[in-house]
Amino acid sequence: MSEIAFRVVKEWDVVKVRITEEAKKRVDLLLSQKRCLGCGEKLTEGEQVKRGMHATCYQAARRAIRANRISESTLIREGKMLQPGVGGRKPSNDFTRELSGRS
Ligand SMILES: [Zn+2]
Repeated sequence: MSEIAFRVVKEWDVVKVRITEEAKKRVDLLLSQKRCLGCGEKLTEGEQVKRGMHATCYQAARRAIRANRISESTLIREGKMLQPGVGGRKPSNDFTRELSGRS
């Protein structure tokens, strides 16, 4: 019994590492090409970017998360969304910095 449980945990760990590697490559490639992590299309200069995605792609992702069609952690693990606090426009003044929760 305990042997089976151990094997499952080990396999899950291996899978998790593999996905993380692929996701990291995907994120690095898309970001270096200035592409949206969601749709893969180019991000135009000056366009609003959220969590590495077009604002519209981000909104669509948020809607899907709210509707429980996909989880935020799945998107992050698959390299389709940056983790919170990464990417996007840097807060431009003390007020927006305070709102964004960054210090
Ligand atoms: Zn997009």
